Amino acid sequence: MRKTSLISLLVALLPALAGAQAGGRGGGRGAAAPPPGPPVLLVPDRVWNAVDAAPHEGWVVLVRGDRIEAVDAKANVQVPPEATTINLPGTTLIPGLIEGHSHLLLHPYNETSWNDQVLHESLALRVARAVNHAKATLLAGFTSVRDLGTEGAGYADVGLKEAINQGIIPGPRMWVVTKAIVVTGQYAPKGFATEYMDEIPQGAEEADGPDKISHVVRDQIKHGADWIKVYADYRWGPNGEAMPGFTQDELNLIVSIAKSSGRQVAAHSSTAEGMRRSTLAGVATIEHGDGGTPEVFKLMAERGVCYVPTVSVGGRNKAAVLKMAMDAGVTICNGADSGPVAHGDNAREVEGLVANGLTPLQALRAATVNDAKMLGWGDKIGSVQKGFYADLVAVRGDPTKDISAIRQVQLVMKNGVVYGAR
Ligand SMILES: [Zn+2]
Repeated sequence: MRKTSLISLLVALLPALAGAQAGGRGGGRGAAAPPPGPPVLLVPDRVWNAVDAAPHEGWVVLVRGDRIEAVDAKANVQVPPEATTINLPGTTLIPGLIEGHSHLLLHPYNETSWNDQVLHESLALRVARAVNHAKATLLAGFTSVRDLGTEGAGYADVGLKEAINQGIIPGPRMWVVTKAIVVTGQYAPKGFATEYMDEIPQGAEEADGPDKISHVVRDQIKHGADWIKVYADYRWGPNGEAMPGFTQDELNLIVSIAKSSGRQVAAHSSTAEGMRRSTLAGVATIEHGDGGTPEVFKLMAERGVCYVPTVSVGGRNKAAVLKMAMDAGVTICNGADSGPVAHGDNAREVEGLVANGLTPLQALRAATVNDAKMLGWGDKIGSVQKGFYADLVAVRGDPTKDISAIRQVQLVMKNGVVYGAR
C-alpha cells in the first residue's frame, strides 16, 4: 500500500479532473469514463454514513473509480496493494453535502440588487461569476446542487452544468430548471413606466392559460430543464403583499406535464394558499413557506411534499414555521437560496436549521439523505454506502455533535476525484 501526502495526491489526480462525471438526469447526463488511477483508501477518525445516527469510529472508505467499493471497520476492508491511502486525522468523513436551492447565476443582493443584476449585468458577466460560484460551492463540501432558476440569464444553467460534466470547470452535480415559470406581471424588475414594462427583461418566463403554460413547460424541458420551477405566489398584491398567481387548474397542468416527462416540480410559495394549491397539484417541494399553517403542513405531510425552509433568507418566524412543519411530520430538505446569499457559504443554511430548532443530526440528514431522496437519487448519493457515487467530504471535528464542523472542510471528493484538500 502506497502512502501519499494530500498535496501530491491532489497533483496526481488533477488529470482526472478532465472527463470525470456520472450519468443520469441532472447530476450529469452524458456520462464519461470514471477517473483513472489506483483505488483510494480514505482513513478519517470516523465515518458518518447518514444511515446510522452515530458516526462509526475507526471506519474507512475504499473508493474505486467513481464509486464507493467498501465502507467498514478497517480490519474488514480488503485493501488492494496498489491502493493510495489518504490519512485524514481528526476528521469525520460524511457524504457530499447537497444544496437544494441555489441560483448560481445570481450573487448576493447586498453586493448588487436583484433589479440591477437582471437589468444591468450581461450574460457573459453573469456566467463568469457563476463559474466562480460553482467552484466555491464544491470546495465548501457541497457536491450537488438543485439550481432553481437563472433569474433572467436564460438557459445559462444548462451550459454551466455541461461544462462541469465535461470537466472543463470544477463544480457540483447540477439539477437545473432554466428560466422558471411565473404568471404575467408577477416577477419582473420594478420601477418602470407603464409604457416600457413589456420591454424589460424578466425574472422568470411568463405563462398564462393552458396553451401558453403547456408550451412553456415543454419548451423549458426542450432546452434542458431537469426540474420545473414554478412561482405559486409572489409579492404582487395591491399593497405589494405576496398573493397566489397561478390558479389551481394552471398548477395542476404544470405538474401533470412535468410528471408525464418524468420531471418533478418545485414551487416557490410563501402564502398558505399558494402552498395549499401547490400541494394539491402534486409538486415535490415547497420553497420558503413562511406563511405555512398547521393545516397546510399536515396536507404536505399527507401528500409527501418536502419543505425547503430556506432559513438563510426571509421571514423572522422561521423557527415557529419550522416547528409547525416538523410537528406535522413534513420531510425537511436543505437549501439556502444561495445566490441571494453567498455561494461557498452554503453551510449557513445547515447551521441555520440547527439555530431554528433542528438537531445537528436532523440538519445533516436534510442536507444529505433527504435532499438526495428529493432529487430522486437516494440510491446513488447522500449517504456513504457500497456502490454509491464517491461524493465524500472530510471535516475536522464531529458535525453530529457540533454542526459548525461542516465549515472545517479538509477534503472534498466528487465522483471519486479529489477537488480540494487542506
Ligand atoms: Zn430562490
